[in-house]
Amino acid sequence: MSAARRPLVAGNWKMFKTGAEAVAYCEAFTPLIGTPAAEVALCPPFTALADTVRALEGSPVWVASQTVHDQVQGAHTGEVSAPMVLATGARGAIVGHSERRAAGESDAMVAARVRAALDHGLVVILCCGESLEQREAGQTESWLTGQIRAALGVVTREEQDRLVVAYEPIWAIGTGRTASPGQAQDACAHVRAVAAEFVDPEPLRVLYGGSVTPDNAAELFAQADVDGGLVGGASLDPAKFATVVAAAG
Ligand code: PEP
Repeated sequence: MSAARRPLVAGNWKMFKTGAEAVAYCEAFTPLIGTPAAEVALCPPFTALADTVRALEGSPVWVASQTVHDQVQGAHTGEVSAPMVLATGARGAIVGHSERRAAGESDAMVAARVRAALDHGLVVILCCGESLEQREAGQTESWLTGQIRAALGVVTREEQDRLVVAYEPIWAIGTGRTASPGQAQDACAHVRAVAAEFVDPEPLRVLYGGSVTPDNAAELFAQADVDGGLVGGASLDPAKFATVVAAAG
């Protein structure tokens, strides 16, 4: 964490929680965090976005979708566009999560979605990260370089205040196997260095994601180039997530 960058802690609920469950969560969560030092976002499924936004009214927590399509409308069954996300009151979108890349989202699709999200005024949480095979083959940095260049090639410096990058090693997502603080620091520093080809690297927030818990969050967030976290499993429980948020304070 750097004093120059306000940390962001974002909870990715993946395919968990109905609208009613999201409302109950928010009622428990907002009193627990009070006025946090970190910026906080929640990323519910599409079907719970509007309920979550309403439940968070008057709180500092903002809402993002878990993906967004690059087209405004059309024959894209199951997809949701940036104007549709905005119409729920959400302000941002995760783009390029590894679970979506594994389901077929290419670098080119990720770039198109980043572009569309920015065009419509959304904040983008862009995900990147290597597989275990790539890490073991010494390809982590070259892989991250490719992902960052592909996605940030469409971003201008004027828009970068609406861009956050999340480094999420695939082998650490949902596995309970967290990157060490040193591994997280090295990868986030590399992401920042590559991002410098396109944007001002100093104000850019680079998050770590991958089995962040109340037990390991503080040490991960204390790394110089780690500006908070994208949190999956531990964000599903309001008390656990509030503890993670406090660790970024
Ligand atoms: C994620 O979904 O982005 C994630 C990091 O999940 P988890 O915290 O469960 O590893």
